[in-house]
Amino acid sequence: MTSSAYLSREGQKVLLIEKNRECGGLVNSFTRDGFHFDAGVRALIDAGIILPMLKDLNIQLEVVKSPVSLGIENEIIHIENLDSLNEYRELLTKLYRESVNEIDEVLRSIRKIMKHMDVLYGIENPLFKDLKRDRTYVFKKLLPWLPKFIFTVGKINRMNMPVEDYLETIVKNPSLRDIISQHFFKNTPAFFAMSYFSLYLDYFYPKGGVGKLSEALKNKIIEFGGEIKTDTIIIEVMAERCLVRDQKNITYKYDNLIWAADLKTLYKITATEGLLPRIKTKFEDTKNKMLKNRGGDSVFSLFLEVDEPLESFRKIAHGHFFYTPSKLGLGETHREELNYLLTNFEKVEKEQILTWLDKFTRLNTYEISIPGLKDPELVPPGKTGLIISFLAEYDLFNKIQKAGWLDEFISELENRVFSVISDSVYPMLKDKIIARFSFTPLSIENRVGSSEGAITGWSFQKSMPVINKIQISDRSVLTPVPSIYQAGQWAYSPAGVPMSILTGKLAAYKALKKIRKFKNN
Ligand SMILES: Cc1cc2nc3c(=O)[nH]c(=O)nc-3n(C[C@H](O)[C@H](O)[C@H](O)COP(=O)(O)OP(=O)(O)OC[C@H]3O[C@@H](n4cnc5c(N)ncnc54)[C@H](O)[C@@H]3O)c2cc1C
Repeated sequence: MTSSAYLSREGQKVLLIEKNRECGGLVNSFTRDGFHFDAGVRALIDAGIILPMLKDLNIQLEVVKSPVSLGIENEIIHIENLDSLNEYRELLTKLYRESVNEIDEVLRSIRKIMKHMDVLYGIENPLFKDLKRDRTYVFKKLLPWLPKFIFTVGKINRMNMPVEDYLETIVKNPSLRDIISQHFFKNTPAFFAMSYFSLYLDYFYPKGGVGKLSEALKNKIIEFGGEIKTDTIIIEVMAERCLVRDQKNITYKYDNLIWAADLKTLYKITATEGLLPRIKTKFEDTKNKMLKNRGGDSVFSLFLEVDEPLESFRKIAHGHFFYTPSKLGLGETHREELNYLLTNFEKVEKEQILTWLDKFTRLNTYEISIPGLKDPELVPPGKTGLIISFLAEYDLFNKIQKAGWLDEFISELENRVFSVISDSVYPMLKDKIIARFSFTPLSIENRVGSSEGAITGWSFQKSMPVINKIQISDRSVLTPVPSIYQAGQWAYSPAGVPMSILTGKLAAYKALKKIRKFKNN
C-alpha cells in the first residue's frame, strides 16, 4: 500500500492487487456484534517511520497514545515514562529476591540499548523527507545525526545474537530469563528484544482501530489515481513476459512489479523461462535459500465479547497489557517438550497433548489488548472487548488439523486460556462472556497467505535469506529479476509494521529511479 501510494502520487499508473475483500493484511480491524477488534497488530510503533510517512502523504489520522502495562502474578506496573524502569526493577526484585544483581545487570543492558534506540529512531526517517527542499532538516538534524547513527549501528550489530543466549550470559536464574524473554519470537536478536522497553513508550493507536491506517492509505491511493482490485489472488508470475495471472485466469501486464506478500510464494509461482541464464541461476539460488527457511512464530488470539464495563478493566491495567500469570517461566515447555510432541506426533496420545497444553497455558505470557480502553467508541455501552494472544507454533496446529481434531483442540485451548486469565488477573470475566472466538496460525496463513502463519516474516536463524543489516537495508527490495521488487515483512529482518512501510517506500523509490533513468535515455 505504501508503494502504491508513493508511485501513484508521482503520476505512475498503479494497480494494487489484493487477495482479500479488504486491504491492509495484518494491519486490520473488524466489527462483530458492535465490538471492534484488531485482527492483526494491536497498536503501532512509530519508529520514526509511520508518522513521517503520514505527514509526507498528507494523511490526517487521529491517534491516541497506547500505554502499556506489564504484570507478573499479582504485581502490575504501568509504563508511563523512563522512570517506569525503576518500577520494573522493583517488580522483578519482589518476585526474584535471590537475583537482585542479575536484575540490575539486565536493567543496565536495557538502559544502554534505550540510548541506542534514541539515536536510531531519534529523527524522522530521511526516506520520508523532502531532502532537496527541507534544508533545516538536512543541516540541523540529518547531518549531525549521521555519525551517531554509524556508531550506534556498530554497537547494535554486535548484539545480534539470540536474546536467549544473551540473557544466559548475564542471568543464571532460568525463570527470570524466561519472564524477560518468553514473549519474544524464538532467537530474536538480543538488541531488538532488549529495546522493547523503549518501544513500549512509543505505541500509539488510531482512533477507530488499527485498520484505520490501512483505510487511510487506501483512500490516498485512490485520491492519487491508483486503482485497487480486491478479491484477486495472484497465482502465477511470468517474469520474462512481465505478466501476472490471477485465480480467474485474468492476466495483467506490468513494467515493474512490487511483490509485497509472502516471498516463498513469489519464488514458487514465478516462471523464469526465457530470462537470461545469469538471472535464472541467481533466481534459483535465491529461491533455494528462501524455501529452506521458514516463517517465524505465529500467534493464537482469543477474542472475547464481555458483559462488563470498561471501568472494571481500566482499574487493573492499560489497554495494552503483557501479563504472565506465573513467575515460574515456560522453561522447556515451548521448546524441548513441544519438539518431542511434534517429532513423535504419530505415537503421542491426545491426552498427552492436552496435559502439555495445561502447562503451556499456565506458564505463558499473554498480550492482552482492550481496544475500548484506547477508544471507548469501539464497544457497545457498558461492555468490553478483549483480545488475548500468545505466540503459537504453526506445526502443532497443522498436525492436529491433519489428525482431524482441530476444532476440539481450539475449544480446549480457548477453555484453558479463559480459565488462566479469569482465575488470575480478570476474575470478573467469569459468567460475563457474551461470545468468544479465536484465530489460529492456520487462520493467519489462510487469510494473508503467510508461510507458517508467520506474523513478522522470517524466523531468526543463522542464515537469513534476506538483508538483515540496517546500513544496507536499501538493497532489501531487490530481487534477481530487474523488473521485480520485493517489499513488506519478508523483505528485511527483523520486521514489523514500520519496516514493511519502509521497504514499501524503498521499492517505490527504486522503481521510480529506474523508470526515470529509462525515460532520460
Ligand atoms: C497479533 C499480531 C501482533 C503484532 N504486533 C506487532 C507489533 O507490536 N509491532 C510491529 O511492528 N508489528 C507487529 N505485528 C506484525 C505486523 O502486523 C506485520 O509484520 C505487518 O503488518 C506486515 O505487513 P505486510 O504488508 O508486509 O504483510 P501482510 O500484512 O501480510 O500483507 C500482505 C498482503 O498481501 C496479500 N496477499 C498475499 N498473497 C497474495 C496473493 N497471492 N495475491 C494477492 N494478494 C496477496 C494479503 O492478503 C495481504 O493483504 C503483529 C502482527 C500480529 C498478527
